Amino acid sequence: MSKPAKLSLLNKTAKLLVILTVLFATDRETATVTSTSISFAGIPFDVIENGVSDNRYIWLHGDEQTAKMILEDHIKSFSGKAFFIKCDEREVPFESTKIDPNRIFSREGSRAALRKFKSGWNARVFKTALDNLDYERDYFLVELFPENRGLLIALHNNFRGYNIKEELSKSRLSSIKRGQNPRDFIICTQESDYRKLEMGPYNLVLQDQLPTKDDGSLSWAALRDDIRYINIETRLGWLSKQRKMLKFVIGMLK
Ligand SMILES: [Zn+2]
Repeated sequence: MSKPAKLSLLNKTAKLLVILTVLFATDRETATVTSTSISFAGIPFDVIENGVSDNRYIWLHGDEQTAKMILEDHIKSFSGKAFFIKCDEREVPFESTKIDPNRIFSREGSRAALRKFKSGWNARVFKTALDNLDYERDYFLVELFPENRGLLIALHNNFRGYNIKEELSKSRLSSIKRGQNPRDFIICTQESDYRKLEMGPYNLVLQDQLPTKDDGSLSWAALRDDIRYINIETRLGWLSKQRKMLKFVIGMLK
């Protein structure tokens, strides 16, 4: 669906609109921080907006607490809008099962996500669940995706073996830096951003071609809509590392 079509669809319903709005001034008189809520397929998110900026941020996995702390801190001093999932666990409850929130950003991905923890779906119930996810995803992405070529930055942490090498087969360009842990890396979806970021010290891949099998992660949805998406991935607990990587990205791509 095109962006204007999504927007007009959004105007027709108040379903995902703000539940609660609290305005309060920060210590800097000019900036205003707004706290609201939104939901996607029954999954609640807190949304913190600081000042006026097209940049968007998202924290999607409840068990990745380092990334949450970084983003909570960052949005206090940098303008933009940050989405925080309201869940302490990786998978979130959905109807009669649970799903990984970063595997439902396509119908194909949702199909696998719904079956991961529950088999034996009734065909009609399964189709209805997929249709609902399609419908709600469109509204959520209208809210989440930046306009005017702003950035969408996702923050993730990894726990054990996952590292940049597993991303290479999905990447068109890569820049692996000597002395950097392969579990700390950046994914981007636009070559112009890649060219700026590759000058820095961090591991980096460019994923600007859709895979044959879409696993439902946000990065592919962003790529389909030509959004400047950045994923900053570090080891869980490596707080200062992830903070430095986020500041580097913002500094290079402003
Ligand atoms: Zn994650």
